[in-house]
Amino acid sequence: MDLQSLKNSVTSSPAFVVDATEVTNTLKVLEELRNQCGCKVLYSIKALPFSSVLELAKPFVDGFSVSSLFEARLADEILAGQGSIHLTTPGIRPDELDDIASLCTHISFNSLNQYQRFGDAAKAKASVGLRLNPKLSFLDDKRFDPCRPFSKLGVDIDELCRSTCLDQINGLHFHTIFSATDFTPLIKTIEKLQSRLGSRFASLKWLNLGGGYLFNRIEDHSRFIDMVRRLKSDFGIDVYIEPGKAVIGQAGHLIATVIDTFISDDKTIVVLDTSVNHNPEVFEYQRQPELHEHEPEGAYAAVLAGCTCLAGDIFGEYRFNKPLKMGDRVVFKHIGAYSLIKANRFNGHNLPDVYEVSSEKVTLLKHYDYADYRGQWVRDETVS
Ligand SMILES: *Cc1c(COP(=O)(O)O)cnc(C)c1O
Repeated sequence: MDLQSLKNSVTSSPAFVVDATEVTNTLKVLEELRNQCGCKVLYSIKALPFSSVLELAKPFVDGFSVSSLFEARLADEILAGQGSIHLTTPGIRPDELDDIASLCTHISFNSLNQYQRFGDAAKAKASVGLRLNPKLSFLDDKRFDPCRPFSKLGVDIDELCRSTCLDQINGLHFHTIFSATDFTPLIKTIEKLQSRLGSRFASLKWLNLGGGYLFNRIEDHSRFIDMVRRLKSDFGIDVYIEPGKAVIGQAGHLIATVIDTFISDDKTIVVLDTSVNHNPEVFEYQRQPELHEHEPEGAYAAVLAGCTCLAGDIFGEYRFNKPLKMGDRVVFKHIGAYSLIKANRFNGHNLPDVYEVSSEKVTLLKHYDYADYRGQWVRDETVS
C-alpha cells in the first residue's frame, strides 16, 4: 500500500506503522545472501522487538540476537526452540547469568573479566565466545564508534592475542559500524583479524560479524559473498550476521496530525500530535527524518514541531506545495529502527498506536491508554 492510501486508512493518530511487505522484501534479500554464501542471519531485535516483526522475521532467519535477559526471554518466546539466540552485552549481572545461559545458544562475553567470572557456568549450557574490539575505527562520530579510545565494548585484539582464552572459546564476535552502505570496513576488519590470529581461527566454531550494514541498500554483495565463502572454506567456521536497522529501518513510518499552526519570527510553525518522544534520536543526534509530503521546490516552508514543552522538540524545516492546515496528516518515513523502542511518555503524551500494513490491509496491533501511563507512575501497593 502506498503512503497516501496508508495515511487515509489508518484510523488513529499518532500512529507507528510497520510495513510487512517491506520487511519481507528485505528479509528476502538477506535470505538470498544466505543461500549464496552460507552465512547465517540473525535479526538484532533491539532495533524493534515488536512481536509481529519477530513473527515476520522468524521464517527467514536463523535466530535472533539480543542484548539483555528480557530480550532473550522475548526471543525465546517467539522462536520456541526453532532458532539460535546470540547475546552480547557489557551488562550481564551475576544474578541473571543462569537464566541467560539457559535461554541463549551463544554468548559472547564483553571482557576477559566477564569471561573469567561467568565463562565456566555459561559453557555448561551455551556456546561461549568473546566480543572482540578490532581497534579499527570507521566512524567519525565517537558516540557510535565501538573502537573509540577507551572503548568499553569488547576485548582489545592485542590483549586477546596474548591471552590463553582464545584456545578455550568457541567463537568471536565484533560489531564496529552503523548504517554502512559499503563493505570496505568489514573486509579491512577481517584482514586485520586474519593477520593477527592466523591459524588460530581454525580452532573456532563461529564468527559473528555483528550488524551495522544496510544490506538492502547495497547493490553489489559479491565482495561480502566471496569473503564469507573464503572464511568458511579456509577455517570451517559458521559465519553469522546480525542486522537490526537493515531489517526494519525502511519499513517503519510515523503518521501524525497537525494540531496547531502559527507564525514565530516570520517562520510558520506547525505543531503535530507527535513529538521527539516517539523518535528520540531526532533530538539525541539532531537528525531530520524524511517526510513523505516534503517538496524540495515547494513554495511554502514550515517548521514541523512536536507537542512537548521541550523547545528543541522539532523534526525540522520542510517545504510544501500548499500550506499545511489543522487536521492534515503527515508521514515521517523510514524510521522503523530505534524509534518506537526508545519512545516515552514525557509530558504525559501517549505512545502512538501501532499498526501493521500489508499490500491491501491495515491492522491495529496495539493501543495504549491512561491505564498504561498510570500503571507506570502510580506506586505499587505495598505488601505489609
Ligand atoms: C546494535 C547492534 C546490532 C544491530 O545493529 P544495526 O546497526 O541496527 O544493524 C548488532 N549487533 C550488536 C552487537 C549491536 O550492538
